[in-house]
Amino acid sequence: MFCEQCGAPIPEGARFCEECGAPVPQEAVPVAPVAQPEPKSQPIPRSGTVTPRRFSPPRLVIGALILAILGYAAYWVLYMM
Ligand SMILES: [Zn+2]
Repeated sequence: MFCEQCGAPIPEGARFCEECGAPVPQEAVPVAPVAQPEPKSQPIPRSGTVTPRRFSPPRLVIGALILAILGYAAYWVLYMM
């Protein structure tokens, strides 16, 4: 920035002009970056696109188990007879 009194260049952060000693208006001093407010409209995951997968028991395992049970029962029936 430049001094309002003499127009000398003032380094950033300086409170007084190095040439004339005029106080630098604080408004011109870059203030700390204000934390930006969070956007109110945050992207909400749509339930239609992002559907939590339901826990479903693997059908292959169940089918294999049923087949095993049936085979075991059939084996026992044939064996007993
Ligand atoms: Zn000055």
